[in-house]
Amino acid sequence: MRDVSPGLTQIDEPYAHEFVRGNIWWRQGRDRDLLVDTGLGIASLRQALRTLTATQGLTWREPIVVLTHGHLDHAGGAAEFADVRAHPGDVPAAVTSLHGRTFAQQLGAKPDPSLPEGLLVSASPRAAWDPRHHDVGEITATPAEAGDIIDLGDRRYEVLHLPGHTHGSIALLDRVNRELFSGDVVYDDILLDDLHESDPEDYRRSMDLLRRLDVNDVRPGHGSSFDHYVLQRIIRAYTSR
Ligand SMILES: [Zn+2]
Repeated sequence: MRDVSPGLTQIDEPYAHEFVRGNIWWRQGRDRDLLVDTGLGIASLRQALRTLTATQGLTWREPIVVLTHGHLDHAGGAAEFADVRAHPGDVPAAVTSLHGRTFAQQLGAKPDPSLPEGLLVSASPRAAWDPRHHDVGEITATPAEAGDIIDLGDRRYEVLHLPGHTHGSIALLDRVNRELFSGDVVYDDILLDDLHESDPEDYRRSMDLLRRLDVNDVRPGHGSSFDHYVLQRIIRAYTSR
């Protein structure tokens, strides 16, 4: 967990294998707080945020939770929250295995030597927890569609529908502060467009849309933030394949 800039905290799950260690972004706004993605949902994210809020001397407020897409490493913790928004194109699986090979098969990922044969997590939250039948509970989400505005009072985020990685992949764009929460559409590593729910043609169209945006701070679904130049380099590398 680290403070990236005033009001923005980047959280990840240290006991998760890096393949499933997604970013959880917590933006504390003037009127509302925004949580972008929720991790695997193994330990209580809600409790961690409540504790963090208390250590800051602030009062806990129910955040607006936006899921960039339905994959487990982004949507797993969503059931704990009351106000969850997601694109209806993705339906998160209720029960998933965190056994490396089974997880990859469920996702549709190609055999990858960097994926462990065994479990994708190195710690257990409680004695009876079974990582092979990880139940994330029932996620009830309000549809988030292209053009919807998430208003925090001092910042406004527009929902962009960017299918390709999954059908329901979305990003959040703050045009004034030139900030983009990009989910798994762009991050600075190998992009996945060959999963069960992927569509490379859609991905190209999404990249064309991203190419034209005026953004400087990209907050991706995996790894560190990057700037406009890195974003353009990632888009070029993908579209020139
Ligand atoms: Zn994903």
